[in-house]
Amino acid sequence: MDAPALCQLCARAESARQHRAPGPSGPICASCIEAGLHAVSSGAHDPAADDALPVRLGRNDTTACDSCERNSRDSFLGFRRRSLARVTFPHSGTVLCAECLDSSGDLINRAIRG
Ligand SMILES: [Zn+2]
Ligand SMILES: [Zn+2]
Repeated sequence: MDAPALCQLCARAESARQHRAPGPSGPICASCIEAGLHAVSSGAHDPAADDALPVRLGRNDTTACDSCERNSRDSFLGFRRRSLARVTFPHSGTVLCAECLDSSGDLINRAIRG
């Protein structure tokens, strides 16, 4: 039997009941996706928050998502490039965008529903 892969973002071992989604360089766990989406929707970084939680990148930060390698979102015909919300995970330094977090969350939801 293979040893369970660690979550790429928080380095926690896989528990038997926890679903994973493929990340840019390894599996990512449901709690990291959930924390990432929370950081996207809550906006500004709360300095009182846990250091291990993902932090949303500022509007002028051009660091690209490690998964899709974009830092902005193209609208119709490429006009008006809008900033794409991204979060960075302190443990690994991985940057993921809201769209990649969303699609990973969808994968896990589907896996849970069977
Ligand atoms: Zn994790
Ligand atoms: Zn992305």
